[in-house]
Amino acid sequence: MTSASGRENRRVSRPAKALVSLLCSPLVLAGVGDAAEVSARPGSVVRWSGDGSESCGRGMRTWSANASTCWFPIDLLEAPGEVAVFRIRAGRREAAKIQVTDYPYPVQRIKLKDSSKVDLSPEDLVRVRRDQARVKSLWLLAGPARFRLPLAPPLEEMGPAGSFGSRRFFNGQPRSPHSGADYPAVEGATVFSVAPGTVVLASDLFFSGQSVFVDHGDGLVSMYFHLSSMSVAEGEQLESRAVIGAVGETGRTTGPHLHLGLRWRGARVDPSLLLGPRAEIPALLESGDPVNQAEPKAASRGSVDRVEVSTGGAAAERGRYASGETFRCRPSSY
Ligand SMILES: [Zn+2]
Repeated sequence: MTSASGRENRRVSRPAKALVSLLCSPLVLAGVGDAAEVSARPGSVVRWSGDGSESCGRGMRTWSANASTCWFPIDLLEAPGEVAVFRIRAGRREAAKIQVTDYPYPVQRIKLKDSSKVDLSPEDLVRVRRDQARVKSLWLLAGPARFRLPLAPPLEEMGPAGSFGSRRFFNGQPRSPHSGADYPAVEGATVFSVAPGTVVLASDLFFSGQSVFVDHGDGLVSMYFHLSSMSVAEGEQLESRAVIGAVGETGRTTGPHLHLGLRWRGARVDPSLLLGPRAEIPALLESGDPVNQAEPKAASRGSVDRVEVSTGGAAAERGRYASGETFRCRPSSY
C-alpha cells in the first residue's frame, strides 16, 4: 500500500488486502480488472450504487435495487474468500466481487453466576429449540423496503457499541459468536424502533429475555433483547423511533443494557455499521469514481479490543454518556 501507482495498487495481493481490511475496515478498493471489487469483513454490508440499477443478485437469489443502490449483507459467519455478485442496470447484467476477509473479532470470556443458562436442563433445551424455530422463520421475510440508512438510534443516549462478532465462552464453554451489539443503558431507559416496520415477534425467549423483532421490509429485521417491558404487540405497525419498550436484564445477561441485533436477508450484520454514516459502508465503485476511504468512527467500531469480560456480583462497569450523565451496567449478554 506504499506504492503511489494506481496500477500497482490494483495488484495488491489478496493476503495484503485481508490485512489492510482487518486493520482499517471499512476500506474501499478501486475497481480491479473488468469487475468492481471491494474488501469487506464478515458481518458488514456492501453497497453498490448506480443510476438505473433495477435488481441485484448473488447466486440464484435476486432482489430489487433500493433507490438505484444494491445492498449486499455479508453474514457474520461467511467464509473468507471471493463472493460473486451482480446487478441488472439499464437492462444489462454487471458483475462484481466482494473479498470477504478472515474473521476479525476477538474472543470474549464471560462468567455467569447462574449456570442454568449455560448448562441447560432437558426442559430448557426443549424451550430453546421452540424459540429457535419461531425466530428462524423471520429470516425469510421479504417485502418492499420501509427504511432508509442510516437507521435511527434505538436509545436517547447512544454509548459505544460492544462486542459484535466476539467468539464467546460462557463459564469456559464455547458458544455461538455474539451476533448483535450491546449498548450500555440504565434499567428502564426507553428503547425505540430504528425504522418504520411491523412487529413480527414480541415474546419472552429463553436466552434473549423479553424480545421484540421488527420487520422493516427488504428482509431487514431488527431485534431488541433483554427488555424489562415491551410496549408493542405482534402485528403492530411502527413509525420510525416508535417506543418498543424499556431496557432491562431479562434472559441470559449480566446486567441491564440493550442488545440490538440486525438480520438482513438472513445475514447477521453489525448494527453500528447501519446506524453510522452511509459513507462508512464499504462500496463497490464505478471505474473512475473517487475512492471512498472514510475514517473509521471510533464509536462505531465496537469494543473489538475488549478480549475478556468478567461479570457478576460487584464487577459492574461504570461509564459516562456524551451528555455527562453516568451509567452503571455490566454490558454483556446473549
Ligand atoms: Zn448482546
